[in-house]
Amino acid sequence: MKIDLHSHTRCSDGALLPEELFIRAHNLQIDMLAITDHDTVAAIDPIIELQKSCQRAMQIVPGIELSTSWHGFDIHIVGLHIDWRDLALGQRLSQQQAVRMNRAENIAHKLHVAGCDNLLPVVKEMAGPGQITRAHFAKALVKGGYAANFEQAFRIYLAKGKRAFVKSSWISVAQAIEWITQAGGVAVLAHPSRYDLSAKWLRRLIVEFKENGGAAMEVVYPGISSVIKNQMVKYTQEYDLYGSTGSDFHAPSQWRELGRNLALPEQVKPVWSLWC
Ligand code: AMP
Ligand code: MN
Ligand code: MN
Ligand code: MN
Repeated sequence: MKIDLHSHTRCSDGALLPEELFIRAHNLQIDMLAITDHDTVAAIDPIIELQKSCQRAMQIVPGIELSTSWHGFDIHIVGLHIDWRDLALGQRLSQQQAVRMNRAENIAHKLHVAGCDNLLPVVKEMAGPGQITRAHFAKALVKGGYAANFEQAFRIYLAKGKRAFVKSSWISVAQAIEWITQAGGVAVLAHPSRYDLSAKWLRRLIVEFKENGGAAMEVVYPGISSVIKNQMVKYTQEYDLYGSTGSDFHAPSQWRELGRNLALPEQVKPVWSLWC
């Protein structure tokens, strides 16, 4: 089984349209794919519709990646197997999308003060009807000649503490779990080793996540060493959490492909056993 439970489309900061992601997933022989755009479920309807008229079986798992604030850190909580048509969820996401737009305006203002002019119309145009993320600003900064590349745009302007960083008022971790579970889904702590948290703080996060009804954490994702992976596996056992796996696919590239090298270690309880 080729399973990938974390992916993005152009509805947030992915490079592919929902239909392009769908085709790519089929071409790569994916058996189960979760769509988890940042703070939006807009890609799910079109992908589910496409799958209905498709010969090859692929389970589409409706999902989301919610941005939360936790002690000054931006923590991502993935929701899997949600009812993406849930009305309360839709209303809640509208709030979070308004926070996102407001933050984009504040980032653009800080960039203006830093000498990078008029980027808001550029990112709005790039995002179209989708959610504006810092990845859009990074691309706009490169395009405008303000940064040599995407990574540098984060290093100079967009990363935490840098010139155009805006502390956002995202929802809390507990709220994200509540939104997801009330929409019938399973809350998953996304890429736990990517937050620059010390071991002590990461444990605190996991404890709080679990206490508030979080069910799983990602243990397999690209760019982590086997030492980190083993540590994440240990946490699932210690805190009695299910394990998830996902590429966090954003764009076709060499090193982070949909569904590649994502096998879950045997000792981990797979998160999909909660709905399969
Ligand atoms: P946002 O949710 O608007 O804060 O944007 C976050 C997205 O920007 C992440 O999902 C990544 O796709 C990207 N991103 C965040 N930090 C970095 C970084 N240091 N380098 C490259 N991409 C990043
Ligand atoms: Mn992203
Ligand atoms: Mn993330
Ligand atoms: Mn992601």
